[in-house]
Amino acid sequence: MTQIKIGIVGAGSAGLFAAKELGKLNLNGIEIKIFDQGPEVDKRYCPLKEEELACAQCYPCKIMSGIGGAGAFSSGILNLNENIGGPLGELCDRVNLNAKEVIQSIDDFFVQNGAPNKVFDPFEKSKKNKLKELKMKCVSVDIRFVPIKQRLLGSENTPKVIKSIRKYLESNFNIQFIPNTKVIRFDKNKNLYFEDGKKENFDYLLLAPGRWGMVWLAEVCNKIIIKTFYEPLDIGVRVEVPAIIMEDVCYIQRDPKFHIITPTYKDFIRTFCVNHKGYVVKETYEKKIAGVNGHQFSTEGKSGNTNFAFLIRQSLTSPLEDTTEYGRSISKQTSILGGYKPLVQTLGDLRSGHRSRSSLIDKNPVQPTLKDATPGDIAMAYPYRFVTDILEGLKILDKVIPGVNNNSTLIYAPEFKRSAKRIDINNFFESNQIKNIFFAGDGAGVSRGIIGAAVTGIIAAKGIILKITNH
Ligand SMILES: Cc1cc2nc3c(=O)[nH]c(=O)nc-3n(C[C@H](O)[C@H](O)[C@H](O)COP(=O)(O)OP(=O)(O)OC[C@H]3O[C@@H](n4cnc5c(N)ncnc54)[C@H](O)[C@@H]3O)c2cc1C
Repeated sequence: MTQIKIGIVGAGSAGLFAAKELGKLNLNGIEIKIFDQGPEVDKRYCPLKEEELACAQCYPCKIMSGIGGAGAFSSGILNLNENIGGPLGELCDRVNLNAKEVIQSIDDFFVQNGAPNKVFDPFEKSKKNKLKELKMKCVSVDIRFVPIKQRLLGSENTPKVIKSIRKYLESNFNIQFIPNTKVIRFDKNKNLYFEDGKKENFDYLLLAPGRWGMVWLAEVCNKIIIKTFYEPLDIGVRVEVPAIIMEDVCYIQRDPKFHIITPTYKDFIRTFCVNHKGYVVKETYEKKIAGVNGHQFSTEGKSGNTNFAFLIRQSLTSPLEDTTEYGRSISKQTSILGGYKPLVQTLGDLRSGHRSRSSLIDKNPVQPTLKDATPGDIAMAYPYRFVTDILEGLKILDKVIPGVNNNSTLIYAPEFKRSAKRIDINNFFESNQIKNIFFAGDGAGVSRGIIGAAVTGIIAAKGIILKITNH
């Protein structure tokens, strides 16, 4: 067989699982290279403290990239369900795959590479009564609870698991990992152009640059006439409460998913990325925009607090459809007010229209796990509609999780999940405009989360395999 070259951009969850699927082909004459602008997983240390990131005190944007992608230093909650992280059931159906089986195979591979054996399963017999009680409470106040099985890698384990996956792909399938290599652009002839001025031609490209690469991806696509569409924005706050408040719900499900429609604006708001006994961490994008996120360890948590993102989904229509720009401008405004740091405010102050001050935060019963945030007034930065959604949403959630709506609850902003632009692709995520260019993962707007990105990487890889084998 003549030499076939496949170039993957991005070694996150989508890129790694695509490489695994393509590697299974194991055909002579196929060369698979996976490029990432960031470093090797074991070189991804905190640049501020010169120690492993799991120190939990900071989250500079640099560590979002590198072998393993954004997931490599996250808590690594694996949502083992086809309805979470994108419409995975539907995406798999379209290409005759069984989503449950695909997710199971991804989960098995994580375990094979060192993920903890423990699964958090709300359907376990011992949790039956508690689950029923929780569902009852939710139904009675119009909250939708989504029970799902989850595995927690834990921030201390994710780098080790990624390292093991990389080794497996190299030694079993001869996948070539090329870290510290930024792809500047690609073209319709499937050339990749690198920062050092070099270029390389491939027969197939698979672009999986994640959320931090999505603006770049959409720009290059538009230049080479691949169509893109705006996706809704996920924006909100990170909420931090004493861990004991969340103990019961986190016992049933490690990362409980509650969906609420707010009374005034009928907006959709949800809990996301619950870190039980975890830490709020700072992110920085585009060098100056501060944001917040959260993480936790797999073993008994180290902090006395639990945090979660509380996110509103917002679409925009003409004349401004650009949800990324809208989200960016709110985040920028918030970080300017915080002196280029996230804002932190007690819920009591937000509710009563007062700015929080350090003197009050120091006395607050809930102490922030993120010290590098500025006490301030989130209402100065966020639109009235979003503040109303957050206040109303917490009031409703309090009926299921008593205490979450206390005055001492801490609210951090901005919490902003950059929304990708969806790319005009077929069922195997191949461009409808240019053949043999495939897309996967969060950056292409087809997934949200480690498992979702992996599923889309597998689908795209299967598309490439089909084309190669039918050639
Ligand atoms: C702090 C944090 C915590 C999270 N926690 C969880 C969690 O617990 N559970 C969960 O399911 N999800 C979590 N997520 C989300 C999850 O990490 C992502 O959904 C997932 O990593 C997406 O995978 P991906 O492959 O699409 O992109 P990514 O993982 O973002 O990987 C993309 C890779 O592409 C590289 N890249 C981008 N542009 C270029 C370029 N031009 N040239 C070369 N390389 C490039 C980047 O360096 C990056 O390594 C978390 C995210 C963050 C930031």
